[in-house]
Amino acid sequence: MYHSVDHFDEDPHLVTVSPARFARQMAWLRARGLRGVGMGELLDAHAAGRARGLVGLTFDDGYADFVTRAVPALLRYGFGATVFVVSGRIGAYNAWDDGPRKPLMTADQIRTAADAGMEIASHGRHHVSLPGADDTELREELEESRAVLEDLVEGPVTGFAYPYGHASAREVEAVRAAGYDYACDISPDEPGRHALPRAYVGDRDGPVRLRAKIVRHELRRRSRV
Ligand SMILES: [Zn+2]
Repeated sequence: MYHSVDHFDEDPHLVTVSPARFARQMAWLRARGLRGVGMGELLDAHAAGRARGLVGLTFDDGYADFVTRAVPALLRYGFGATVFVVSGRIGAYNAWDDGPRKPLMTADQIRTAADAGMEIASHGRHHVSLPGADDTELREELEESRAVLEDLVEGPVTGFAYPYGHASAREVEAVRAAGYDYACDISPDEPGRHALPRAYVGDRDGPVRLRAKIVRHELRRRSRV
């Protein structure tokens, strides 16, 4: 689980990985015979029994640096990824965050990422914590964001990521009812196709920590499948 790939001076919420570190992390994956893919591709491969050696790469929030920094590095390694876009903040900035202001992808940049083979998925409309939303707002966050993004990329949008990783049974059911094929969480109490666990990766993660995170994630996944 990544957010932003860019140079930075301050990063209080630890959401940014420097371009040099990111390139080393991708090189590390490839050196171990692993290939980064989007979540849709990972789940399809898993269903077909072909997921060995694949690692799902996700980028939350849809920062502009996804298309300017992350995508070129991913393409260099032949990797794919899923980017979770906040549909009501396209071309704006991360107003929900009290950290440094970061620009979000414009509509053109989202299409560019899709054309490069990246999976575009939804992170809701306004990056609100969904357990606090009433039923109408919850439905709008899920259904409108999907419709807006499907119009934009002229294709299906099947994935969702819960803002802040906040999801109770009600939100998980609402995401399923809204027609999403899968949803990414962070550390769900009850993992499932609509509450997939993810491992945070940050700028401090060199080879030793990356290896520990992959092992831990794999153990957690196996113990619950
Ligand atoms: Zn987010």
